[in-house]
Amino acid sequence: MLKNLFSFCLFISPFLSVAQEQTVFTHADTLRGSVTPERVWWDLTYYHLKVRPNAQDSTITGSTVINYKVLQPYQTLQVDLQEPLKIEKVTQDGQTLAFKRDGNAFFIDLSKKQEKGKLESIEVFYSGRPRLARRPPWDGGVQWVPDGNGNTIISTSCQGLGSSVWWPCKDHMYDEPDSMMVSVTVPKKMTDVSNGKLRSIVENSDDTHTFNWAVVNPINNYGVNMNVANYVSWKEIYKGEKGDLPVSFYVYPENLEKAKVQFQQANKMLKAFEHWFGPYPFYEDGYKLVEVPYLGMEHQSSVTYGNGYKMGYLGRDLSKTGWGLKWDFIIIHESGHEWFANNITYKDVADMWIHESFTNYSENLYTEYYFGKEAGSDYVIGTRALIANDKPIIGPYHVNREGSRDMYYKGGNMLHTIRQVVNDDEKWRQILRGLNKTFYHQTVETAQIEGYVSKNAGRDISKVFDQYLRDTRIPVLEYSFKGNTVEYRWTNVVNGFDMPVKIKLGEGKDQFISPTSEWKTLKTKGEKTLVVDRNFYVESKGV
Ligand SMILES: [Zn+2]
Repeated sequence: MLKNLFSFCLFISPFLSVAQEQTVFTHADTLRGSVTPERVWWDLTYYHLKVRPNAQDSTITGSTVINYKVLQPYQTLQVDLQEPLKIEKVTQDGQTLAFKRDGNAFFIDLSKKQEKGKLESIEVFYSGRPRLARRPPWDGGVQWVPDGNGNTIISTSCQGLGSSVWWPCKDHMYDEPDSMMVSVTVPKKMTDVSNGKLRSIVENSDDTHTFNWAVVNPINNYGVNMNVANYVSWKEIYKGEKGDLPVSFYVYPENLEKAKVQFQQANKMLKAFEHWFGPYPFYEDGYKLVEVPYLGMEHQSSVTYGNGYKMGYLGRDLSKTGWGLKWDFIIIHESGHEWFANNITYKDVADMWIHESFTNYSENLYTEYYFGKEAGSDYVIGTRALIANDKPIIGPYHVNREGSRDMYYKGGNMLHTIRQVVNDDEKWRQILRGLNKTFYHQTVETAQIEGYVSKNAGRDISKVFDQYLRDTRIPVLEYSFKGNTVEYRWTNVVNGFDMPVKIKLGEGKDQFISPTSEWKTLKTKGEKTLVVDRNFYVESKGV
């Protein structure tokens, strides 16, 4: 997902955070955010989503076929669909099933005996006027925008809110289907762009046609999207690490010229990110960049774009160093999520840092790839001004709640700091590539990422993660010169914090020291200044 507008984040979030601390989680939060007994017994294998949006009255009708494997026998199955949408009917093997609604959760009584190991299928029919996206992509839903030529542009965005805002599904991130078909029926003059590859366009007798998009890899539910407009498009082949990657671009006709120039950055992005993170994770589904009326979102294999063909973030440099204006923020950031969000996906949104910290950090790596290491460092360090340290980056589990928005800039700076600790750029790059290989197409928890980094860094990084993900304090290196020695220690840290740090005494060489919370002593040659390497996100204080 995107970062919020930083002005909003800086000025409003302190108040929001107070309100959030006092939040009492509801029954609905638990139904949505936990792996309930009605979810845990079945493993999602396939979705076929069929939708027909109706621009005249902003309604949708459609159905989802849900294929699943029975892990444990159970006779009640939970499907989610948000108000004011309604489930009309549910069938299994042609039989109509009874169901009960509890808020946004539907509990379906299965009359057929569910036997362990069997593959089963239901179809859920629904209709209604889905929630309008109030401020997409942050406050999402469905957006209906007149295009000035008598047509309606339709787009969906739903991270956090959940895909059940526009279609019936298992709306929890832990489980992904192995593949999916998205079929969208629109008027003949309009085009739908969804995820994966276009398998067919079926002409209907009622002046509509149906776009069938096939996704052959696991997909996270908020990554599924529908984009309807009078698109023009072009295709290219990117020669990447895994061979030929089909790349396509869909834009509004009036923006074709601009897009042909601006979207050349997609190839540059693929080159830089394949270098750092390994092969693009969805070669079989292709990569698409699709214009939409909102800022953008990491929809899997159909990244959406609304940055106005400007460099930076809507023309601004979030780092205020100049480097952020060298590239288009939405092309780089949202595409970075193909590796961290769509390939490696959180099970619980409390662990959203896995998506946003790594993707924020990808901006710095992109900058480094094209403009050099110092430029990358300048960029990530420049974004520190946006860190709030208001609450921990990891949020509360099992209630569909994310942690602090510090998951962006603080998370990026944490990873940049860990790179300094690893102190071996090639090893660090192999860790980033290894994460994408080891957790390829998986949903994960924080502990798995932390464990992998520690194991492959060759040292225990756990206290560093604790400090930056689970605490709001920034480590302070305290030091004191005494004769021909300097004493130093960490303060403002979690118990056992033991991060090595690079310093420079006087005009001497860079050197690593290994502070703990206890005072340690280092011999000097009479220097009277100590400077911590700027790449470490810490503070220092002479005492
Ligand atoms: Zn993001």
